[in-house]
Amino acid sequence: MNANFLQTPIDYLKGVGPNRADLLKKELGIHTFQDLLNLFPNRYLDRTQYYKIAQLQQTNAEVQIIGKITHIKTVEQKRGKRLVATFIDETGTMELVWFRGQKWIRENLKLNVPYVIFGKTNYFNNSFSMPHPEMELLEAHEKSIRSAMQPVYPSTEKLGNSGITNRVINGLMQQLFLESKNAFAETLSKPLLEQLKLASKKEALFNIHFPISQAHLARAQYRLKFEELFYIQLQLIRKNLIHKSKIKGYTFDKIGHNFNTFFSEHLPFELTEAQKRVIKEIRNDLGSNAQMNRLLQGDVGSGKTIVALMSMLIAIDNGFQACLMAPTEILSVQHYNGLVGLCKRLNTSIEILTGSTKTSKRREIHEKLENGELDILIGTHALLEDKVKFKNLGLAIVDEQHRFGVEQRSKLWHKNEYPPHVLVMTATPIPRTLAMSVYGDLDISVIDELPPGRKDIKTVHRFDANRLKVFRFIRDEIAKGRQVYIVYPLIQESETMDYKDLKDGYESIVREFPLPEYQVSIVHGQMKSADKEYEMNRFIKGETQIMVATTVIEVGVDVPNASVMIIESAERFGLSQLHQLRGRVGRGAEQSYCILMTGHKLSADAKMRLETMVRTSDGFEIAEVDLKLRGPGDMMGTQQSGVLNLRIADIIKDSEILKIARSYAMQTLKADPNLASEENLPIKNTYAQLVKYRNIWNYIS
Ligand code: ADP
Ligand code: MG
Repeated sequence: MNANFLQTPIDYLKGVGPNRADLLKKELGIHTFQDLLNLFPNRYLDRTQYYKIAQLQQTNAEVQIIGKITHIKTVEQKRGKRLVATFIDETGTMELVWFRGQKWIRENLKLNVPYVIFGKTNYFNNSFSMPHPEMELLEAHEKSIRSAMQPVYPSTEKLGNSGITNRVINGLMQQLFLESKNAFAETLSKPLLEQLKLASKKEALFNIHFPISQAHLARAQYRLKFEELFYIQLQLIRKNLIHKSKIKGYTFDKIGHNFNTFFSEHLPFELTEAQKRVIKEIRNDLGSNAQMNRLLQGDVGSGKTIVALMSMLIAIDNGFQACLMAPTEILSVQHYNGLVGLCKRLNTSIEILTGSTKTSKRREIHEKLENGELDILIGTHALLEDKVKFKNLGLAIVDEQHRFGVEQRSKLWHKNEYPPHVLVMTATPIPRTLAMSVYGDLDISVIDELPPGRKDIKTVHRFDANRLKVFRFIRDEIAKGRQVYIVYPLIQESETMDYKDLKDGYESIVREFPLPEYQVSIVHGQMKSADKEYEMNRFIKGETQIMVATTVIEVGVDVPNASVMIIESAERFGLSQLHQLRGRVGRGAEQSYCILMTGHKLSADAKMRLETMVRTSDGFEIAEVDLKLRGPGDMMGTQQSGVLNLRIADIIKDSEILKIARSYAMQTLKADPNLASEENLPIKNTYAQLVKYRNIWNYIS
């Protein structure tokens, strides 16, 4: 078949006029025959069964019925109109209802002719109705290519309203297969097909759109998923190779005074094996002449800070500056205090820059940055302001990357003549499978070990009704000298209400834990940063025993003596947030506790989140559950960094296929980096097409 056939504009397919072409382009991004061919069904319906109206159950399931429309009328209602058709078969009567696209439907529906209708039924006032049924004349229904599993294609409201129903798409697909005679070129190499026993491209495409059987469909899906993941990996791996060989970075080949002195004299504890391994990986990157672009994943409390510091010391020893950017002021201050403490016997100069830095201090920092007096700058987004100019920034570290977008990161890159090395640290444990696909071009280091002596945090779920017992428990812990966090959710849409919850909560805590025996701090986002800092410091110093807070304390705060974390309305938090919050305790030597408070009414998802928290403290396991519950698009940490927008594969469910695809992509490139061999010709061609028509960034939403 002519290779250009698939690039034919969709306008040229029989059955697609200018209007439909326009809609297909705008709504589904279908510009060419190829795009249509690659519109894979979301799911398949069992259309082998036909129901009688008298057999309908109140289950709201999808059913298929044969019958006739006897009457159509428009019914006025409070908001707009609806179109209602009376639909009958020999056993009974029901209604078909449309809220959208009424004009088109009214003009096109035929009365008293047998139709096959399909859709979900509603039961109300003793009768059944079906909103927006799929409809086909019985005559056409009997003639069309039909299989037990009928595909359901992605659609949009606008398409539905304009009469481009699933059946229309199905018809266009049939037309496309007719015109192409199913002569689709193979896109994988013979050895790949043979080794993995994959369906051919032709077979796969036919069965994805017109499955002959469940088994054929499964084979088709596997092949197409593999192909999709294979080409993404191929692109990522190639990009990475090109990246490595092209973007030059500063070479930090000296391990000098600062690093050595710190390592041999000032280490406050023995590094864990994982920390040592990660520092080695970073040292290797910094010592090569390629720019480092590394993601450091480590669960809360795994000790990323010291890794950051030691990396910065390498930069300084090589005559460069370093910066550390954190998402909140509190966290920046904490980093600053921590690093100043660690470095106090080294001769390094460290400053902090945040939104509340005074103008005079700000000016001083700008100057010292530009003349190179300053070694390390710590701060918030304030570091990204145009006025902040480094003399020679060699290493940029971003802590808790989920608060920073890609754009902001790249802003840091352009502060200097050459891009600095970049280390992105995150406690949001992005599952390996996902990280591998999304960050295929980032190198990944993982601290998969907690410092020794950490006790598991005992986590329980308690209903609000048991509050008095929880208070008793808090009293006991405080009596033992411990400190307690009580956290309230703050969800943006309902801020006022949430603040009310927080303030009410604070008042009841103060009542339960009165002065002078108890001191209670409160910290939330509406406070001035000086006040926040003051309260935080009182808690850090142990002057207050209870910290009532919103999620501002979520990220990074380190108070080893705090051993109890109470999370109010825990059902309103996402899993990754719950995990982060729990990570605030269990930092000292004492047994720590996390108590998840909720009301009695819980959704299935909320129950699953709470159960997961109680069951495990493994950040990766939690992230996997989170991803399953919320889907990759929602996951914290991936929202801004871009998640793959896949046609057919599913990053979590198909992680096995992903692994295979990645390993075959690597093997293929290793054996034949330019895809020049005869057998790789289909891969080379497909790859070239992909790059030309739909490069990797289209996958990244
Ligand atoms: P995170 O990865 O969450 O940023 P931090 O760097 O804040 O973790 O470390 C958490 C706590 O563990 C800190 O109090 C830190 O001093 C301590 N810590 C880090 N590494 C070690 C280690 N190897 N041995 C003992 N304590 C450590
Ligand atoms: Mg940290």
